[in-house]
Amino acid sequence: MGEPVLLKGAPVAKRIREAAAAEAVELKGKGRQPHLSVILDPSAPDARMYADSQRKACEAAGVKFSEHSYPAAHDALIDLIDRLNVDRGITGLFLHTPAPAGIRLEEARARMDPERDVEGIHPANLGALVLGVPVAVPCTAEAAVEMMRESGVPYAGARAVIVGRSPTVGRAVALLLLAEKKSATVTVCHSATVDIASETLKADFLIVAMGKPGFVRGAMVREGAVVIDVGTNMVRQADGTEKLTGDVAFAEVAPKARAITPVPGGVGPVTTACLVRNVVRCARRGA
Ligand code: NAP
Repeated sequence: MGEPVLLKGAPVAKRIREAAAAEAVELKGKGRQPHLSVILDPSAPDARMYADSQRKACEAAGVKFSEHSYPAAHDALIDLIDRLNVDRGITGLFLHTPAPAGIRLEEARARMDPERDVEGIHPANLGALVLGVPVAVPCTAEAAVEMMRESGVPYAGARAVIVGRSPTVGRAVALLLLAEKKSATVTVCHSATVDIASETLKADFLIVAMGKPGFVRGAMVREGAVVIDVGTNMVRQADGTEKLTGDVAFAEVAPKARAITPVPGGVGPVTTACLVRNVVRCARRGA
């Protein structure tokens, strides 16, 4: 195999953000400025960092951003969600994890107005995805499919193998692909899959979303496969520093791949752009 195509997320993210920003301007002109409101535990460092990056991405696209802290009591959270659900100035809602002890996150998510669910995580939106008529779709799954398209390799009828079956990542990628009329043939692997390599070796498109750094080795990948690495794992290096690492052993797999996403700089930036686009889409649907 020659040099693989490195599928960088930045240009894809830029296209998505620019289109979302243009639409945000148009919606603002109609009195429906997209506005994402998030609820988080400000003492959780990962949530804090993620919320800061959401704010930056939203504001850069002309999308308003506001945040609330999780109340200590579940009932108070339900009251807050009820208020945000009917606030005409807010068009999108996002509940960060982790939520404090005592908060029943699944119940809280189901309480959100599905039309404001920018994560595609409300049961009505996940149900629409299962039915093959996606409305609001989990951003990471959408980003993975964007990167499959970015490879330029057609996937209609191709074999797509996904490793990981979490509802908003691996499983959502499978459902998104199946929702297309001319879809790929989809296999989903998980921790009970016997002999994962025998499955991954069949993949024309290999999408990996496990949370296991470097799990997919060179010997598990077919020559010429398109490899989409969704994994983001902080791995401690010998010198004590931490490095963001994917689920794919890049140095071994890249020489066999036709195209491959790096970590960092692959699926990650596209996920953030897809979130901004989802906020704008929610505003449009409610406009
Ligand atoms: P998750 O909820 O922990 O799910 C992991 C999935 O991988 C599960 O379905 C699990 O199988 C499967 N798995 C774990 N170990 C396995 C093994 N040894 N063999 C086969 N399957 C195995 O994680 P997630 O939320 O889907 O996230 C997956 C990765 O994507 C993580 O690294 C996460 O940080 C990353 N992520 C990235 C972005 C981004 O923007 N790039 C966004 C979200 C998540 P079972 O179901 O059988 O347990």
